[in-house]
Parts: sequence; C-alpha cells; structure tokens
Amino acid sequence: MPQHDLLISGGHVVTFDPQIGDLPQGDVLIRDGRITAVGADLAPRAPGARVVDARGRLVMPGLVDTHRHVWQGALGGHTGQVSLSGYSRAVIAGLAPHYTPEDLYAGTLWGALQALNAGITTVADWSHNLSTPRHADANVRALHDSGIRGVFLYGGPGPDGLAFFGVPAPQHPADARRVQAEHFPDGISGRLRMGLALRGPAFTTPETTKNDFAFARKLGLPISVHVGMAGFPDSVETLDKLGLLGPDINHVHATQLSDREFDLIADTGGSISLSPSVDMLMALGTYPATGHALARGIAAGLSVDTTTGSGTDLFTEMRLALAAERSRANADAVSRHEAVEDVELNQRDMLKLATLDAARVWHLDHEVGSITPGKQADVTVVDMRPPHLNGFGDPVATLVMGAGAADVETVVVGGEILKAGGILVGPVAEHARELMHESRVNLRDRTGQNAS
Ligand SMILES: [Zn+2]
Repeated sequence: MPQHDLLISGGHVVTFDPQIGDLPQGDVLIRDGRITAVGADLAPRAPGARVVDARGRLVMPGLVDTHRHVWQGALGGHTGQVSLSGYSRAVIAGLAPHYTPEDLYAGTLWGALQALNAGITTVADWSHNLSTPRHADANVRALHDSGIRGVFLYGGPGPDGLAFFGVPAPQHPADARRVQAEHFPDGISGRLRMGLALRGPAFTTPETTKNDFAFARKLGLPISVHVGMAGFPDSVETLDKLGLLGPDINHVHATQLSDREFDLIADTGGSISLSPSVDMLMALGTYPATGHALARGIAAGLSVDTTTGSGTDLFTEMRLALAAERSRANADAVSRHEAVEDVELNQRDMLKLATLDAARVWHLDHEVGSITPGKQADVTVVDMRPPHLNGFGDPVATLVMGAGAADVETVVVGGEILKAGGILVGPVAEHARELMHESRVNLRDRTGQNAS
C-alpha cells in the first residue's frame, strides 16, 4: 500500500552520500518507504504528509550493527565482570539451554527494540540459541515483529545442545534449510535476509568446518564466523589451508590475527566486524582490529556483539574504537616518552564505520547506509539541543563523543516511524516489555539464577 510522504525537515543532514555530503539545514523526503529527495526546502507532494521537525537535530542514515546476539536482549548486566570463558559458562552453558521458544521470542524482540531505541535500523543477528526448529521460527518472528531490518544468521546448537561446540562435532543444523525454504523462499522476507552463523575453526574441527561451509554455499547463504580471539589462534590460516576463504565470509572480532591473516581476508574480499567493548572488556584482544582493517581496505563495521556485559548502542562503540585505535597507533611513540604531534582518524570515520561501511560488510550498501535518493528510508534523528550535544564545532564530532540512546529522538525504518519524540512507538513496543519481564521471571525460576 503506498504510504503518504514523510518529510524530515530542517535538520543538519549528514548523508554519507559522496555527491550530497552534509546539509547544515536540509530536508529528507520519503515516499513508499524510500528516500525520494534530499535538499533544502522540499515540499511534500502528497496530501496527508507527515512532517518531522528536525530543527536543532542531526539527521543521519540509520545505524548498522554488523554483529549482535539479539536473543540476549533481556540479559543486560548479567556478565559485567567476565572474560570470554566466563561468558561461555554463565550465558552459553548456564542460561541458554533453559530458553524456551517463548523466551527466545521475548529476548529477541526486546533486543531488537533495544537496537532500534539506539538508532540502529539494521542488525546482523548472530543467533546461537536455536535448540529446536520452534526456536528458529520464534527468532525470525521476533525480528519481523520488531520492525528492524537485518540479516538473521542461523547458528547452533540444534538438538545436540552444548555438545555442538565439542568433539566429535555434529554438522550445522539441517533445519536451516527448512527455515530458508519456509521463511526466505525469495531470499528476502520483509526487511530480513538470511545467513549462517557458523562455529568456524575456533569452535569445531576442520572437517566439520569444511562441511558447514559447503552447506552454507549450497544454500547460497553468507557466512559469519568468530576468528582471532585470544586463546583461539590461526582461525583464518586454517580457513585458508582448507581453501574456504571468500567474499561471502564475515569475520567477527579478528582481534589477534597475524598480518598475513589480515592480508588473506583483504585478498579474498571478506569483511570484519569490530566489537570494541567486547573485544577489550572480555579480553579477546589487546585492541580492536580497526586500523588493520582500514589500512587494507577491508569492509569493516562496528558492532555491539553481546549485551550481557556491555552497552546496547553504537555511539559507545564509536568512541571506544577511536580511542583504542589512536592508543594502538601511538603506543610505540608513547612508550618511548615521545610527544605525539598528529593523531589519525576522526569521529566522522567512526560514524561511517557504523553506517555506510557497516552496510558494506553485509553487501547492503546498495540499499542502506547513506541518505541517498532511491535507498531504503532508514533514518535516525538525534536531538542536538541538550547541553552535552550543543557544541561549537562539527556536530558529528560532538555526536560521536557525547550521544547515547536517550538522545535518539526519531527512528525510521523503510519509511515507518518506530521511535518518535524519544519513545518507541512501533506496534509491539508495550507488549515487548511485558513479555521480557515474564521471561526473566521464568528464567530465574528455572535456573535459580538472578537474571532480573
Ligand atoms: Zn559474537
């Protein structure tokens, strides 16, 4: 059904479109879910048009989270002080097996709304708590119901439970084939696409990795694997030896890869997801791989990863990525007690890593990632009038260093307003809160853990 025009009017528009650039006072016109024009003083063409007053606001492309375990949305603060192994014990071994399909629906819905609330309009959902086909169906349904755009990445463990990550290693759940046929017969379903969240060499045998990758490629689905975390060396080397590297692989973390492994990813056209909070807080590496990826022109984008012990928004990730990369780049000079003259990378580079670059990671940059006429109308509007964002200089620098989810005023996905006046307004927003509370109580009862 054709929708009325939506006009986002009078904001500081940061497009990331190379032809358009920034408009200090600009309008974005939307019709039928697409951006139709960007410029000054655009008038809506349809009667009944809705106008969003964006004066004093920053208007930007909807943020893209390249890697997130969305089902963990109700578990915030559960693993505040853990490394990767502590997280595996507490969440993957501790809570995940107790999730019913209803819990998975509630957690995923809440997690997707958390992302939308923070201005994230596209998410790659690395879903690794699918113990039955009903769990997989619930996950897809929750993403659909939230209104978010994204890639549903079918992970384990399937009926094998935690043995999925052990040896002997079972194959990836064949149920992925059913989900593709039922939910994604045309490759795309509503705002969702599909891929496979595979264990990769870090978490299974080379033989199983080979078979899993063959399965994904037979289905024509993109692949995402965790690589390069401390304690799990040589993942990319192993993929190379097996002849499996390619442009359809999203490499997550990549923190402790060797130079040769980064070169291999660059040469084969793979992408990298950077998760600065988790990379550093959970001791996956010394620094995020930001500089290594950018230096080689690898498609790289920011991500939140797990929300059980870190935040939920990409503004934090932008700040951490910039601070960490400057620290890494200057570490040698600083350790020699030299004064550093120039610093590299800026806040705009980070915002690009959370929009257009992030869209490239999932080969979605033809659809989202910039405010370009013809692209999907995924737009995030941030209120820049409060004291912490009302700066003297470049609004993008102020935004990246100071903004949080609470500053996101309006969120539009495919022309549909899902956050307005700072409040989630989508059709499931209220219901999601009740479901999440119910699920937390049930999980606590079932596990004896304090998950509230
Ligand atoms: Zn992850």
